[in-house]
Amino acid sequence: MSEQRAVILGAAGFIGSHLTDRFLAEGWRVTGVDNLITGTLRNLEHLGREPRFDFLQADVCAPLAISGRVDAVLDFASPASPVDYLRHPFETLHVGSVGVENALELARRSGAPFVLSSTSEVYGDPLEHPQRESYWGNVNPVGPRAVYDEAKRFAEAITVAYRRYREVQVRIARIFNTYGPRMRLDDGRVVPTFVAQALRGEPITVFGDGSQTRSFCYVDDNVEAIWRLLHGDCQDPVNVGDDHEMTVLEFAQAVQRLVGRTVPIEHRPLPQDDPRVRRPDLTRARERLGWAPRIGFEEGMRRTIDWFRAHV
Ligand code: NAD
Ligand code: UDP
Repeated sequence: MSEQRAVILGAAGFIGSHLTDRFLAEGWRVTGVDNLITGTLRNLEHLGREPRFDFLQADVCAPLAISGRVDAVLDFASPASPVDYLRHPFETLHVGSVGVENALELARRSGAPFVLSSTSEVYGDPLEHPQRESYWGNVNPVGPRAVYDEAKRFAEAITVAYRRYREVQVRIARIFNTYGPRMRLDDGRVVPTFVAQALRGEPITVFGDGSQTRSFCYVDDNVEAIWRLLHGDCQDPVNVGDDHEMTVLEFAQAVQRLVGRTVPIEHRPLPQDDPRVRRPDLTRARERLGWAPRIGFEEGMRRTIDWFRAHV
């Protein structure tokens, strides 16, 4: 069989670039599409002149000028950090709606399966804990985070409509906080922010009292889950994350210990609608994908800190 070809939208981003590496390593051709709004070509630099990779700098909110064989469309294009989506509110709403529709159209006309990078943010500030896929969520539709949360909820709705009415094979990954090399140092997310602060000897900025929780998943585990999701038959949403939960304050202390520098902790106001708790129920991922995260927190953080050390 000749080489299969994946179209990866958001390929210059954090997760998209790791996915690109994985598909190339599996022998696929990859066409990466990105408008570089929050991503960077540095994330693809290591590919050099890889003949099986080509890059199209384009906004996915315009119809995608891609022809020829396409065996999978993976939509990982969207500002993802709160700092980024609050800086780009309309771009975030557009890419989660018009952009996803364009991506689904590409999948439909190519007869290719479609993978949506949805998010734990569809659960909002959850009243069910841990979060199962059956939970409908608690999102404030007029709060500042709505530009991201509601765009992603729309993205899920249109993805399911393409499955129901247009016969596209779909996959929906509800991704929980994922971290690793190639996160932007200034994207405002808690992992790069705390690690960069500790490495620079600056105070760590904990929002609120730090009792809110998150569960951090290493990017290689995420990529493995996406790979299995694409190759499986589950068209229902699947939580993809790590269920090892900690408070933000505990995370700050872990960063101090792992970086080996006890910088002061400074508290800042908690942003509006910041979810109080977050942890995936991974039953469906285990049962339907045979997947569970394998890279422990310490190991994942060590790899991430090593990468940041070289980049701070
Ligand atoms: P990222 O910002 O590093 O990557 C997103 C990429 O999409 C960037 O390269 C950006 O330039 C590109 N992009 C954005 N709008 C575009 C447009 N209109 N046209 C073309 N390209 C566009 O973020 P990430 O963390 O890699 O997230 C990737 C996807 O995974 C996003 O859809 C995000 O919502 C989802 N996700 C990520 C996490 C996480 O913890 N990293 C959690 C949940 C969901
Ligand atoms: N956070 C923090 N200090 C920072 C950045 C984030 O205390 O400098 C907190 C934030 O309030 C949230 C958690 O860390 O409770 C995770 O934030 P992030 O922006 O990484 O992603 P979120 O899970 O909110 O989308």
